[in-house]
Amino acid sequence: MKLVIAQMKHETNTYSPVPTPLARFAVGGVPLEGASAVAAVRGTGSAFAAFIELAEAAGAEYTVAIAASAWPSGPVHDDAFEHICGRICAAVALGCDGVLLDLHGAMVTQSLEDGEGALLRRIRAIAPTVPIGVALDMHTNLYDAMGANCSVIAGYQTYPHVDMHGTGLRAGRALIALLQGRAQPTMACGRQAMLPHVMRQGTDDSPNKEVQARCKQMEAEGALCASVFVGFPNADIHDAGLSAVVVTDGDEAKARRWRDELLQMAWDARAGFVYQTEPLADSLARARQLVDARPAGAGPVVLLDHSDNCASGGTMDTMTVLGAMLDAGFCNAAAFAIYDPVAVQQLAAAGVGATVTLPLGGKLDMPSLGLKGQPRTVTGCVKLLTDGVYRNIGPMSAGDLNSMGLTAVLDVGGVQVVVISDHVEPHDLAAFTAVGIAPQRLSVLMLKSRVHWRAGLRSLAHAVVECNGTGVCTSDYTALAFKHLRRPIYPLDENARSTLS
Ligand SMILES: [Zn+2]
Repeated sequence: MKLVIAQMKHETNTYSPVPTPLARFAVGGVPLEGASAVAAVRGTGSAFAAFIELAEAAGAEYTVAIAASAWPSGPVHDDAFEHICGRICAAVALGCDGVLLDLHGAMVTQSLEDGEGALLRRIRAIAPTVPIGVALDMHTNLYDAMGANCSVIAGYQTYPHVDMHGTGLRAGRALIALLQGRAQPTMACGRQAMLPHVMRQGTDDSPNKEVQARCKQMEAEGALCASVFVGFPNADIHDAGLSAVVVTDGDEAKARRWRDELLQMAWDARAGFVYQTEPLADSLARARQLVDARPAGAGPVVLLDHSDNCASGGTMDTMTVLGAMLDAGFCNAAAFAIYDPVAVQQLAAAGVGATVTLPLGGKLDMPSLGLKGQPRTVTGCVKLLTDGVYRNIGPMSAGDLNSMGLTAVLDVGGVQVVVISDHVEPHDLAAFTAVGIAPQRLSVLMLKSRVHWRAGLRSLAHAVVECNGTGVCTSDYTALAFKHLRRPIYPLDENARSTLS
């Protein structure tokens, strides 16, 4: 058995001004291929690593075409997409029995709304009968071309995504069973007329907790893979939103029945996927009360700047929430992080121990929201400089190597502001260890994150206050102009109806 294994992951925020060239898909330079890609991912918590483990356990010969994964940002540059697709298609063209792909499922390029569908179509054109197994992120925006051009799809069933590896196992086992003649996967895919808010998608909470539990139950009852994709709404494309895919062993009617059950279940729970924002001043006042009443020895009150999370395509340089935090006079506090490579260079030039006054953040305009970047001038002491490289300890993306680039910690009146040169989302304790901050010792911790921070940090928090700041991953749909999204859709339109009705 000969397999081609590859990774192509990007969640595209079409409102984001952050560019997505090929270099964003690699830690330093171009994406890895072949043996160096295998060495980089082996033992990590990715679907990609699971594919390699399964191939080796099955005694298969395998080729790793490319390992390409980028933090979310604006549309992928066409030449980057062509490079990644080209490497995968070239490997398939050499001949193989099966293909295993670790994809995101929400890639938009400068020219295409559905990057994954385009990739799968190209592979099918080269090798029309070769089975293809695909692992997808729960934030997939599912297009028909994806389901029509592969054999098996499995999606994450957790958010924060702590089951990426397990998802690779689910997709990979079903595909290998097909290749070994032990199963005949048949797949039913469908969308629902819903655009769930990201802040209401976490699987610790209802309704997604129950929806994903039903997917797991279906797999226990015989489905090869059952997945509900809550979708990524900060993408103005036709098919953004919720979808479901069920794969059974040869039972087409059951696959369709289970798919419809999942789509109906999500529709019935639709009100629970709607997020109501709170005025920032109210959030800060609540945070003040929580901080003042915090028992001795308790962890920090987390201020969650959920409008500007780089893991949803945010610039990570808006200063609204950090500014409010500084104005509120919180101390024994930290903020992770502000993306500002220019400021980092200034802080590095000044050196550790120097007191510096500089405009921080706000370097990137957000034309999709009609906003100009708004830096805030701060004065602080440079506490630390580092190359910003760290390895996750988990539970999400355990073992992955991350780089925040040259990084500085600037102490602004008792708030340790982490200033970074490359995007990373704070979901792993190792990010803090790398900059000498022990979050459990703080009174207040500002995080630019939405749901993933829960993976590695929630257990440390005394309380969380969700702060409605500024940014292109806002959960306030009224701030986003949807021009290409299919309508009607819930909750944007009162006349939205279930696709099953
Ligand atoms: Zn996701």
